[in-house]
Amino acid sequence: MIIVPENEIASLVTREAAFQAVENVFAAMASGDAYNFPVVREAIGHVDALYGFKGGFDKAGMALGLKAGGYWPNNLETHNVINHQSTVFLFDPDTGMVKAMVGGNMLTALRTAAASSVSIKHLARQDAKVMGMIGAGHQAKFQLRTALEHRNFEKVIGWNLHPEMLSNLEEVANEASLPFEVVELEGMTEADVIITITSSFDPILLKDHVQPGTHLACMGTDTKGKQEVGVDLMTAATVFTDEIAQSISIGESQHAIAEGQMKESDITPLGAVINGVHKGRVSDDEITLFDGTGVGLQDLAVASAAVELAVANGKAIQIDI
Ligand code: NAD
Repeated sequence: MIIVPENEIASLVTREAAFQAVENVFAAMASGDAYNFPVVREAIGHVDALYGFKGGFDKAGMALGLKAGGYWPNNLETHNVINHQSTVFLFDPDTGMVKAMVGGNMLTALRTAAASSVSIKHLARQDAKVMGMIGAGHQAKFQLRTALEHRNFEKVIGWNLHPEMLSNLEEVANEASLPFEVVELEGMTEADVIITITSSFDPILLKDHVQPGTHLACMGTDTKGKQEVGVDLMTAATVFTDEIAQSISIGESQHAIAEGQMKESDITPLGAVINGVHKGRVSDDEITLFDGTGVGLQDLAVASAAVELAVANGKAIQIDI
């Protein structure tokens, strides 16, 4: 069995490697070569922790396994470790033998940022110039850094409920030598692409805050009850997702579906666009929206890449079990 420790991931897995792994697995999901298993997520009744498993099998990439982990709200304060904790386990699809154990914390940020960027590559207008961010926490920095690599952006604008966190976005914009401007929600009409990545339970971004032609990647809503986007904006947009079953149950689409304003058949897997089965954006005035809920297969895809890179770079720890 191979172990790839958490502290090796940042130097092994590039944004490009994560992007390629996620684009491939979205394509495999849409063509029926890969599927996600039902998600388990439990409040374990100890230190307020949420713990669960996301798994699946990708026959195209031969990745079988699961990500185990969750959220320990008191970690930082009590143990000085981050609150989100996860580990990926990969198994040999031919024998069922455990193949690898890979630190999953950095991989989660990389695969989540890769997902929104895959949507930008396939759905945003080619002439997009202004990148808009709603949210400025841990994931937002990864999201912005990756997104800026997929169009020739000239400016970043940002809004966050807690304005003191907006310097996180400014830091990433500056890394890319781009100007950064704080805006009110109304100012988001300037954006050509918008990523939402907050832990909000109420709609933030409404139809009036978005211009025709905008592409939105809505990444924060990954749990029942969370919401970042108004139902008016959802119904005005052409909606794509990583996985329809998750989109309607735990993703941004859950609210429009529950209100009877949208049907499951209104949602298209992004993989269908990657595979050329769906045409994606059809006009410069269309609002496209990617509901990125986060699937286990993304974790397996980036973990498999991490194992390959660790072996190639002499960083893999081999143990007999
Ligand atoms: P974080 O705690 O670092 O940042 C939270 C962000 O949400 C900040 O911008 C904060 O100001 C904002 N926020 C907090 N409460 C809010 C509220 N009530 N209304 C509006 N904004 C609020 O968290 P993070 O690690 O950056 O994660 C952000 C979100 O992304 C979480 O909801 C997380 O579950 C989700 N997430 C999704 C995926 C996926 O695959 N889709 C993967 C990882 C994380």
